[in-house]
Amino acid sequence: MVTDTKSGVGVSGGTAYGPVVQVAPPVRPPADEPAAADPVAALADVRAAFASVATSLEERAESVDGTAREILKATALMAKDKGLAKAAGKRLEAGRGPANAINDAVEEFAAKFESLGGYFAERVVDLRDVGARAVAAVLGVPAPGVPHFTVPSILVAEDLAPAETATLDRALVLGILTQAGGRTSHTAILAAQMGIPAVVQVSDATSIPAGTAVALDGDSGEVTIDPDPELVAAQRARAVRRAAALATLSGPGVTKDGTPVALLANIGGVDDAVAAGALDLEGVGLFRTEFVFLSSETAPTVEEQVEIYRGVFAPFEGRRVVVRTLDAGADKPLAFADLGPEENPALGRRGLRLSTRLPELLDAQLEALAIAGRETGADVRVMAPMVATVDEAQWFAGRVKAHGLPKSGVMIEVPAAALRARHVLAEVDFGSLGTNDLAQYTMAADRMQGELSHLLDPWQPAVLDVVGAACVGAAAVDRPMGVCGESAGDPLLALVLAGLGVQSLSMAPSKVPLVRLALSLHTLAECQALTELASAARTPAEAMAAVRDAAHPELTELL
Ligand code: PEP
Ligand code: MG
Repeated sequence: MVTDTKSGVGVSGGTAYGPVVQVAPPVRPPADEPAAADPVAALADVRAAFASVATSLEERAESVDGTAREILKATALMAKDKGLAKAAGKRLEAGRGPANAINDAVEEFAAKFESLGGYFAERVVDLRDVGARAVAAVLGVPAPGVPHFTVPSILVAEDLAPAETATLDRALVLGILTQAGGRTSHTAILAAQMGIPAVVQVSDATSIPAGTAVALDGDSGEVTIDPDPELVAAQRARAVRRAAALATLSGPGVTKDGTPVALLANIGGVDDAVAAGALDLEGVGLFRTEFVFLSSETAPTVEEQVEIYRGVFAPFEGRRVVVRTLDAGADKPLAFADLGPEENPALGRRGLRLSTRLPELLDAQLEALAIAGRETGADVRVMAPMVATVDEAQWFAGRVKAHGLPKSGVMIEVPAAALRARHVLAEVDFGSLGTNDLAQYTMAADRMQGELSHLLDPWQPAVLDVVGAACVGAAAVDRPMGVCGESAGDPLLALVLAGLGVQSLSMAPSKVPLVRLALSLHTLAECQALTELASAARTPAEAMAAVRDAAHPELTELL
């Protein structure tokens, strides 16, 4: 047996060791499938197949909460799309059999989605998942996807559809390994939210035979096939040490010498809020409101929104909740806020740009937030996504004020806003760095394109320079700056960010304890020295290595 080590991208921390379960690949339609004898009857079968897929996804949605439920519902909507069945009908008339007609229709839509790029390209995984399930249904064979298993295992797949990730049984899934996927893909965000160690971008992962023992490290991205018992023992010992070290600390985030750096949660809805509200953290630094409405076909009313926001704010009485207004478009389109297809959706009418085109949507949301905020005791602050200019910040702040909401802020996720932070932030009360998009736009690399992961690395010196420029601008006008992109949950990067002067870090709640520990072991001056090391580096790997070498060993031995 030869031990083999592969390097991937760690996207959800912690270690795992166990046997591999390969996620069943999609069912292929038979090459020799005869033409449908009766295309009209065959179309009825195809429609029934799509309907059964929609029903089973909806049933799965009912068995889970929060973001997972929304993602499943959104995927069920795809199965209900009349256009898909219609396209399959045309293929049936042209002489294809039902399974091939479904497959052809799905591929026709997939090619369109892929050419649109961004969000649409990412949804191709979901679309093909719907297609493969419908092919299985029409052929009367079991659905593809996660097989039934009873021994706690490491799940391995080419990529996991969000629908699959969302419904995993936490007790049985020790870890996740994918061949594709990116740092900010749905799979990565959901795995972190569920606290499952995960590594993406692992070459040839799907050829690891089922049952093979694998050790994975969701922090370093290292994956070891048939690991030596010593390596497994060392990983286990580290996990025990980590748990013990983390258990000794509690309370607000603070550096060793007493500089506060608030530790906050990223959430996507009421269930996330209830779960995070019960944890030792200082509030919410990013409530992605668009997650709540991913499957809504019509705009939610003010009353419907008040109900939801009340549910989000209630667990945070006396604590802050930073609400981001709808960040629709590009990677998160909403059916009721769609201005039509674009060549480059990530550079198009998304985020606040969309709100300026549909101000009635923004006003309804702000009205609902103001009502729910008044009714609950949470410290509600509202911020806008995708702000690029002073004028946009000023416009947004005016609208927030008009609704009687006490504090407005902007996401700093476009390099233009970062470079001009002094002037942009002068219009509002606070800024929050969205390093996922900031990396995408600084490096000109689509965040949904797994192959470009290395460019999207928040340790990229250019990204850190832009973050640094934004922090200097914020300090010049005395506005607090936080970070709510995935980088905030990386304990070493969190130190660099604290050194740059950020005052809050918002992340998946499972990442908070390690970041709290990292801060507690370093003074602000030490964080600043780490920032210097990172900014002197020429490459992301050099930056990370320099910071790791200089950070406190009590932290680095746990990573
Ligand atoms: C970001 O871009 O870093 C961010 C936090 O927003 P989202 O990931 O929702 O685009
Ligand atoms: Mg963003």
